[in-house]
Amino acid sequence: MTEVYQPIVIRTLIHNGGEASFIELANAIAEHHGKSVAELVKVVKRYPRQVLLKHGIVSEIDQGLQINLDLSKLSSPQKQALIEVCDIQLRSFQEKKQQHAPNPHDRTWEADVAVESYPEGISTPQKMISKVTQFDRDPKVRAWLLRAAEGVCECCHTEAPFNQPDGTAYLEIHHLRQLADGGSDTIQNAVVVCPNCHRELHFGSRKPELTRKLYQEINRLVPE
Ligand SMILES: [Zn+2]
Ligand SMILES: [Zn+2]
Repeated sequence: MTEVYQPIVIRTLIHNGGEASFIELANAIAEHHGKSVAELVKVVKRYPRQVLLKHGIVSEIDQGLQINLDLSKLSSPQKQALIEVCDIQLRSFQEKKQQHAPNPHDRTWEADVAVESYPEGISTPQKMISKVTQFDRDPKVRAWLLRAAEGVCECCHTEAPFNQPDGTAYLEIHHLRQLADGGSDTIQNAVVVCPNCHRELHFGSRKPELTRKLYQEINRLVPE
């Protein structure tokens, strides 16, 4: 969606008599986008500036841009017509954006993501405050499980993928009945797994199958 900034930049330059500082350009973009001016100054210097310079539409001036067009030779209606062209571009981008705005609860749009066009991303992500419920865990249960596993995943039986800075194997504790569902933090309800198996046990399509396999293979486990 960075191409949406170009008509705003051109429009602002014409409106300002040919020149504008990066801050003025960022302010103009801020009217259309809910981002901070400081962030938009960085954005302006990067994308629209580079593209418009490359195409010879603008030149660089101190802390700003200048349009490569002798505005003194244009009449007022001609300048107005140029601004309108930019506005039409801007509106069509905004309409397209509304149609394509991804719904976070519907992930089917992910299939249409084209690798050829780069997502804009978020240059300065805002801090989100979310509530997380934490459960008390017995460190002795964790220590016992890790000692007993001897650096090997109890699910796929391969060695831990890497060691921690203190030299011990990196493995994770998984509760078969999750603590959030009322499961206990005991060695009868927990296994030591590698990070891959752990993710699969939570998010994989084989989750029920893997959980059943763990109950069958590990004698200390008791279904809760
Ligand atoms: Zn594993
Ligand atoms: Zn888990």
